[in-house]
Amino acid sequence: MSIQKNLNKIKSQLPEHVTLVAVSKTKPVSDLMEAYDAGQRIFGENKIQEMANKYEQMPKDIEWHMIGHVQSNKVKYMASFVSLIHGADSIKLLKEINKQAKKHDRIINCLLQIKIASEDSKFGLSTEVASTLINSEPFSALKNIKVIGLMGMATFTNDKNQVKQEFDILKSSFNELKAFESSNLKLETISMGMSGDFELAINSGSTMVRVGSSIFGLRNY
Ligand SMILES: *Cc1c(COP(=O)(O)O)cnc(C)c1O
Repeated sequence: MSIQKNLNKIKSQLPEHVTLVAVSKTKPVSDLMEAYDAGQRIFGENKIQEMANKYEQMPKDIEWHMIGHVQSNKVKYMASFVSLIHGADSIKLLKEINKQAKKHDRIINCLLQIKIASEDSKFGLSTEVASTLINSEPFSALKNIKVIGLMGMATFTNDKNQVKQEFDILKSSFNELKAFESSNLKLETISMGMSGDFELAINSGSTMVRVGSSIFGLRNY
């Protein structure tokens, strides 16, 4: 199937309140343009340099989402244009995002990554640590970032029950942390669900799904 057909099929499965991030990592600009021409305007990448290269080559009405793990020293390469950073997981990183956003006189939206998977390899904060972070002095001093939601990745497994349980953890984490609101914090977005599990994620309350291979085909690394 073509990228356009894949895209339309996924979109037909999404309720209106769910935002689709087309995950285009490793794919050539020509593939992204096919999605763009079919109407897609939000793209997700997991490497900052690759995202910056594609940003330069593509139309400027695209929203670029950084969905991968972010190293502080690379924030500067995307600070001028990134529209949402999904994987914020430390005060150190948030401070650097704030610093770089300030240089460009803008506010960068972020999601806090919560660890919901049982695997050790997945990044993220516990709900408790996230709660401490957003209620801390250093956090409230960050005027050039805004935390607008949470992001999580479920364990890579065929066990749907486990995946559902992990998505439910993110939803309850969201409900708990939503009680806190401040000038740079207003939780509205729950980013969870990928090609294999976005329907489960939506049933558990996802408002933003990150879908790659079901749109662009399998990736060769
Ligand atoms: C690659 C990736 C996705 C998309 O995965 P697919 O299975 O191809 O849909 C979603 N989220 C993150 C964080 C990713 O790195």
